Amino acid sequence: MSKDNVLKKQFVEKDVQRLRNLVQGKYADKSQTSVGFTKEQITQHKEGDVWVEGNKTWTIKDGIKQNVTKLDKARETINFPIFCPSCKKPMKPHLDKKWYNMFHRCFNCQIDFEAAIRREGLWEEYEKLTINSDIDGLINEFQIWMDDQIEHSAIQSYITEAGDIEKWTGSTKNKLLESKEETIKYLQSLKKA
Ligand SMILES: [Zn+2]
Repeated sequence: MSKDNVLKKQFVEKDVQRLRNLVQGKYADKSQTSVGFTKEQITQHKEGDVWVEGNKTWTIKDGIKQNVTKLDKARETINFPIFCPSCKKPMKPHLDKKWYNMFHRCFNCQIDFEAAIRREGLWEEYEKLTINSDIDGLINEFQIWMDDQIEHSAIQSYITEAGDIEKWTGSTKNKLLESKEETIKYLQSLKKA
């Protein structure tokens, strides 16, 4: 992956984080005025804490309460095979894993592939595709996160931008669904045509 591409990916990730914070902030504001929401202080957790609530494990990552079990499961779906699917040689986990996760081939194959793409004058087209698939990955991750928020919206607690934790009772489901659609639409619009 080119340096430029890495920077673009970081940009998109930051952007998604900003969107998440906006979503959090938006509903935190609404919760204070809307009828049907009640706010109560609960035990404060801070960044990196891991605790069990209900029968699930939670953590706070980037200021957002997340279900650890669910995120781990999503990550587990990316398996790491012993042999590179492209050159059939054994892969070295420490070197090849991140390349496999991104490109489904080993580091050497990726180097060869990128050199070939450049020789063929297809680099620009290829970059477009990888950026779009990065965005697809983010949309997928965002959907998992958002579905989790929706699933737990009745008992979910949120951290406001001021760092307060609020617990809401009452349904936020429709608002979250609306926000999920808006955000996905926005992410889709970041793709290169
Ligand atoms: Zn290979």
